[in-house]
Amino acid sequence: MNYHLIDGKAFSIDAFGGIYAVTQNNFEHQMSLLKDFNIKVASLSDIVDNNVKEEFSVALTFDDGNPSDFDIVFPILLKYGFPATFFLSIQNVEKNGVIWEKYIQMVKKGFDIGSHGIYHKDLSIIEPSEIRTELEQSKLIIERNVNESIRFFSLPYGMYNSKVIKQAKILGFDAILSTQFNFVNPSEKSFVLGRWNIKRNTSIKDFILIIKNHRFTVKKYKYISKVKKYIMDFLGSSLINKVNTLKNRY
Ligand SMILES: [Zn+2]
Repeated sequence: MNYHLIDGKAFSIDAFGGIYAVTQNNFEHQMSLLKDFNIKVASLSDIVDNNVKEEFSVALTFDDGNPSDFDIVFPILLKYGFPATFFLSIQNVEKNGVIWEKYIQMVKKGFDIGSHGIYHKDLSIIEPSEIRTELEQSKLIIERNVNESIRFFSLPYGMYNSKVIKQAKILGFDAILSTQFNFVNPSEKSFVLGRWNIKRNTSIKDFILIIKNHRFTVKKYKYISKVKKYIMDFLGSSLINKVNTLKNRY
């Protein structure tokens, strides 16, 4: 599950017009539902490394490096004992005046940090040298500041291509995360992992539907991804990527 800004006020607007800013009330409600329905919330590392014994588990990720990571999300997750990974866009962290000290405190409590690039660029449309800088420099800057090795990269706008995959592998990332709604099957050892973007308008009903009926949903999405693969083979991947961009901006 992927979140962005969590805001304390119902109508504040984030950098992307507010559609990704989930209210604090909704966020707390969603966390309480994970607990009430006894859903395993695992760290991204444990899921990728296939260390989770439950058939279905959820990893929480937070993109962009917003002030709410520390001010709102951190205390709520501590209360529930849920792990999470925070993907930092270096420019956003600096712009928002979020200080590294806060992320160091979160790392000390067991939370993980990932990279979301330096300038929040769409990696699928930039030169290979720039892709490398975004991946490599952001990883180095974060590792230097929080003293934790960075395993994962969250793709700005969910966008990537074969050059991005190649570079990310060379630079030692264990996976890159898109915003394409998909379930992760750890035994498949996929390098590109799908996520479910939770938005301001994600209803509690939808949220419950997916965590309660995950067996059905997993089946349904496996079927959809199969169909997508057929279409992809037929039309070529560029068209599908374009459709996904329109559907899953940010
Ligand atoms: Zn982002």
